[in-house]
Amino acid sequence: MALALLSSARREPIDPYPGLETVRHLYVHTPFCATVCPYCAFYVHTGSAAEMRSFVEALLLEWDRLRRTYPIAARTLYFGGGTPSLLPLDAFRRLAEALRPWESVEATLEANPRTVTPEKAAAWRELGIGRVSLGVQSLDPAVLRTLGRRHRPRDVERTMAVLREAGFENINVDLIFGVPGQSIASWKETLEGVIAMAPAHISAYELTYEEDTPFFEARAAGVWREDEERSIAMYREAWSLLEAAGYRQYEISNYARPGRECLHNQGYWMGDDYLGLGPGAFSTVGLRRWQNRRHTGRYVAALSAGREPPREEEGLSEEVRRRERLMLGLRTSRGIPYSWIEGEAERARALIGQGLAELSDGTFRLTPEGRLLADGIAGLFV
Ligand code: SF4
Repeated sequence: MALALLSSARREPIDPYPGLETVRHLYVHTPFCATVCPYCAFYVHTGSAAEMRSFVEALLLEWDRLRRTYPIAARTLYFGGGTPSLLPLDAFRRLAEALRPWESVEATLEANPRTVTPEKAAAWRELGIGRVSLGVQSLDPAVLRTLGRRHRPRDVERTMAVLREAGFENINVDLIFGVPGQSIASWKETLEGVIAMAPAHISAYELTYEEDTPFFEARAAGVWREDEERSIAMYREAWSLLEAAGYRQYEISNYARPGRECLHNQGYWMGDDYLGLGPGAFSTVGLRRWQNRRHTGRYVAALSAGREPPREEEGLSEEVRRRERLMLGLRTSRGIPYSWIEGEAERARALIGQGLAELSDGTFRLTPEGRLLADGIAGLFV
């Protein structure tokens, strides 16, 4: 009788991941590049095909650990780096097939113009990659030389043709402005040249002098100096040319044709949780954030020995996450709920009066001019 009572008692379903929300965004960091550009502060280095293959085996082990620990139903998957398009096809195939069946609606691969072959492009498509983000940076050979980039402008056109031939329609082109020696005329020509290639998405980033890079040292030594006025003029040039060509600025550095906004980055900007695989990759789940140590050798060694990759972890608070969402939200055209800053109504009104912000349907957003000052304005509210 007691047994019958026990078995007929209503059982609550067991939650295998107590307290955790499903993670919707995955990032995979490949640290390999053909050469290291002098302005780059990402965790990157060169490597042989054999090193890339053992790195991919370690990634597979990390993926195995993560999926046993977290509820994951990825809507977006982003292969970034580094240069993931450098990975040998057999290794990339193993990785992509292991991550499948992803439930993603968007899978992006970062590529550099000289690393794309018809064979690779066709395989990426077949493996479910729908979006390629191409590191073009400039169409001016002198600017490319300053940036230490190996490709030439003609490589960009050839690569776009190869990608389109393979069926890619959703292509992003990354550009940089504010480069030493880059004139406004050169920037304008690059923008016009890229618009003529009609990618679905264009990212236009201002060069930043990151610590521990040769560019940072050159600036510290007085070889180069930042020219804020020129950078502001370049931002405005990008905004007006791209908007006139049908690209909508939906974040301070990002422009897209309608419906081609990057869902993965939008997830970050809205403060969603994400998991990052690979050395140097960040993850944020709930109130935990960690970064895998920036060391490929130790990453591979730990996982091959059945251990977690070395990490650094920090605890977050609801307040920190709220501030991050506010700061990131102000950089986007979505803006933020006005309720988040209601306590600072006077400041908000002043910004609206200066044409730097607008308020509609309970949403507070910065205008394109206001986005130029997004970080400073966010500082008023956090
Ligand atoms: S190719 Fe990109 S990721 Fe690699 S070193 Fe240059 S800027 Fe950094």
